[in-house]
Amino acid sequence: MKLVASLIVALTASGYAEPAVTVTPPTAHPGEPVLVTVTGTTATPHGKAGGRPLTFFASTRGYQAVFAVPLQVDEDHVLVEVAGGPRPVSVPLEDKTFPETSLVVEEELANPSPEDGKIIDADNAAIAASYAKAAGEPQFHHPFRQPAGAVTSKFGEWRTFNDGHRAQHLGLDLAAQEGSKVAAVNDGTVVLVRETFLAGNVVVIAHGGGIASLYFHLRKPTVAEGDHVRQGERIGLAGHTGRTTGPHLHVSIRVDGGLVDPQAFFKLTIRAATSRAVSRAPTQPTGMRSATSST
Ligand SMILES: [Zn+2]
Repeated sequence: MKLVASLIVALTASGYAEPAVTVTPPTAHPGEPVLVTVTGTTATPHGKAGGRPLTFFASTRGYQAVFAVPLQVDEDHVLVEVAGGPRPVSVPLEDKTFPETSLVVEEELANPSPEDGKIIDADNAAIAASYAKAAGEPQFHHPFRQPAGAVTSKFGEWRTFNDGHRAQHLGLDLAAQEGSKVAAVNDGTVVLVRETFLAGNVVVIAHGGGIASLYFHLRKPTVAEGDHVRQGERIGLAGHTGRTTGPHLHVSIRVDGGLVDPQAFFKLTIRAATSRAVSRAPTQPTGMRSATSST
């Protein structure tokens, strides 16, 4: 099905196979990730999407790069260009109207004071700085896996807090019991463990290839910055720290260009070449790697 949904542009000129560029999905919405796969070349390709450079990494099939369609976008398409490849591939963009909801939380969380605003700014700066550590060679070699749990709120939903402040939900909420295991969506390095004002206890994992996963509202992180984690390994316990209405797991996914819809991201078959994957030497047992704790 994935193949059918993919737009394949494969041109051959006078018998020579040129690089072929595949773009998934063939049409996209604001806030969605797009996977670019280049086959038929032995050298790392160079390319751009919407004028921004793509970061290609070796994949089990050719080379791949992932980019974000911005949430605010004026154009009706994104142009994907690969140097030395076929003609540019146009990814048409379709409008999307995100649902509106209202939430009631503690007043200081709905309308933070100027002092709390400074803390929020510092939190956001720390999270943004952690994305830079997601560049470089992929640390994963399996497709990403969406965490278990029923979806309780989707990416992009507009929320009005206590009939005041309005904010867009830039992640996916999954039902999770207080204290239940939160697992890494793929192999990577823990690049941020922080107690934040709005997102509560946050863990950010850098996976390489420009990809980072974020986990919010944890009761307790169980990893420390610098730890290497495997897909499925515990990184913390679910909770309801920060601005929440109850225990759940919030997952955000960051790729080159911005935060993207996690559900759309987890449908992509992103697979780094095994030979390039970073393998982790055995360390002390997981339970011993206790991180900073806020409770
Ligand atoms: Zn959320």
